[in-house]
Amino acid sequence: MRSVETIIIGGGPAGSACARRLVQNGRDVLVLDKARFPRIKLCAGWITTKAMADLEFTPADYPHPILELDIRTHFFALPFALNWFPTEGANYSIRRIEFDDWLLRRSGAQTVEHEAKTIRRDGERYVIDDQFACTYLVGAGGTMCPVRRAFFAPREKSRQIVTLEKEFAYPARDDTCHLYFFRRGLIGYAWIVPKGNGFVNLGLGGKAKYFKSSGARIQTHFRAFLDDLVAEKRLDAATAADVQETGHPYFLFTYRGDIKRDNCFLIGDSAGLASVDLGEGIGPAVESGRLAAGEILGLGVYRKEDISVFSFRGFVRRLMARASRRHLAPLPSRARGGSGRTATTTP
Ligand SMILES: Cc1cc2nc3c(=O)[nH]c(=O)nc-3n(C[C@H](O)[C@H](O)[C@H](O)COP(=O)(O)OP(=O)(O)OC[C@H]3O[C@@H](n4cnc5c(N)ncnc54)[C@H](O)[C@@H]3O)c2cc1C
Repeated sequence: MRSVETIIIGGGPAGSACARRLVQNGRDVLVLDKARFPRIKLCAGWITTKAMADLEFTPADYPHPILELDIRTHFFALPFALNWFPTEGANYSIRRIEFDDWLLRRSGAQTVEHEAKTIRRDGERYVIDDQFACTYLVGAGGTMCPVRRAFFAPREKSRQIVTLEKEFAYPARDDTCHLYFFRRGLIGYAWIVPKGNGFVNLGLGGKAKYFKSSGARIQTHFRAFLDDLVAEKRLDAATAADVQETGHPYFLFTYRGDIKRDNCFLIGDSAGLASVDLGEGIGPAVESGRLAAGEILGLGVYRKEDISVFSFRGFVRRLMARASRRHLAPLPSRARGGSGRTATTTP
């Protein structure tokens, strides 16, 4: 049996942020992930300045293409977009296949490709599949995290979000990011997010409850969204016809329920930390990973209230950011070619 002080199950942004802080403080950490990295993760790949600051990097440090986003927000079927977004500082897009691999490597933690199945308590230790044992166990396995299943209450179904998305090379894309809220009655939103290297990510997400109660199919909404993008000249018809979308469920922030028990912690999506308004999950995943590491290091206590997406201070800051950015901007009349604000740098 391999024995280490801390085992983190899941090497996404939550797991690698936690691992990095522990490794930086000289601790013995092992990350188990069932996937071989670089791995695909369904995600629009929008990140905030705050998430980047928590991860201790700037666009200039990032070794892959990163694009500063010019975000346009559309509500219902209104014929104009708002140049408005409720975050502080600039927003960027990355590709998760590159980002997560870089973060995990940069953490300096030992990693093993292993799918955790059976997790049990053995006195003061946690034992995983009778192969690994640890004093501290961190559940960072995303929506289906096995640590959550083993030791914590099931999540509230009412907070479940379902999504469909696709990321593909589309050099002809517009450099502007568009978000469409409540279009065609959807309780949720759709997006088209340009990436720095000529890729684009488009998708749609909504409350599972909405699809269940209205009888609307998410696939129908997705196809209608592609038609709208073609009509708005953001996508050509042949590309739209070829899009093979994939789906994923996840959970928004659930205030009820524990995220810590004894020496076992839930971080990121395993704790349902994505924000309620936009489903932003990378920022809270990183913050929670760092806070859980702080408790393992004896530097603080891991509490939901300290994750800024849910703290009162964070709420007030977001409201103020909202108020200061509220102004109308016309829809861009034609695609802006190129990737003028793309930063491509070396490590
Ligand atoms: C379609 C979509 C679009 C999104 N867009 C955005 C966005 O633009 N911006 C944003 O901030 N958030 C977005 N989110 C949310 C964001 O992707 C998540 O909140 C974020 O990835 C959470 O990170 P994590 O580290 O908790 O989990 P994950 O990134 O899901 O990582 C979990 C890891 O655990 C591993 N794992 C799972 N089970 C096991 C097991 N049994 N054993 C070992 N390993 C295991 C997985 O292989 C995976 O590598 C989006 C989500 C979806 C579904």
